Amino acid sequence: MSYHSELAELVAACHWIGAKGWCPATGGNMSLRLDTETCLVTESGKDKGSLSDTDFLKVRLADNGVADGRRPSAETGLHTLIYRLLPEIGAVLHTHSVNATVLSRAEKGTELSLSGYEMQKSLSGQQTHLDTVPIPIFDNDQDIDALAMRVADHHRRQPLIYGFLVRGHGLYCFGRTVAEARRHLDGLEFLFQCELTRRLLEAK
Ligand SMILES: [Zn+2]
Repeated sequence: MSYHSELAELVAACHWIGAKGWCPATGGNMSLRLDTETCLVTESGKDKGSLSDTDFLKVRLADNGVADGRRPSAETGLHTLIYRLLPEIGAVLHTHSVNATVLSRAEKGTELSLSGYEMQKSLSGQQTHLDTVPIPIFDNDQDIDALAMRVADHHRRQPLIYGFLVRGHGLYCFGRTVAEARRHLDGLEFLFQCELTRRLLEAK
């Protein structure tokens, strides 16, 4: 598959994410791996609902460097980290949805455990609602390098699979293709809404 068709799929995914309201006020950022050394990342400050393929910048995975002096998203360092840690990953979607933001604060621990939901099977490799899917939660940090170090440390102990939450901030999720990353995002957002609703009902 050429990167042009994957980029067209990513732009379509951005418009879908914008329509869902998961990236308000130009928040969030998306990326696509080009090869073992580079990826495309959304330019800073762009509305995800109206992105085009010229709103992506080519970034080096090794040092987050950009060739033409334009400014990539502030959180580029987490995208490049994911591509360095997980060679099979081809696309990363980072959203700021209400459900991811609130649930990552309501859960005080370092992990959100999802179990008992049929929709867990939207995540590649999950066969049954009886398993528990752990989604790590990292405390937010304006120092992206420091946050990236904590994510990398966690990955060495427990490899990342579908994504992770940043507390009070949002979700990073990924897949081998844009289509897989999009399915993981859709599935996780559904599961977050279920889990948040369940907790609200049980608290009454
Ligand atoms: Zn963010």
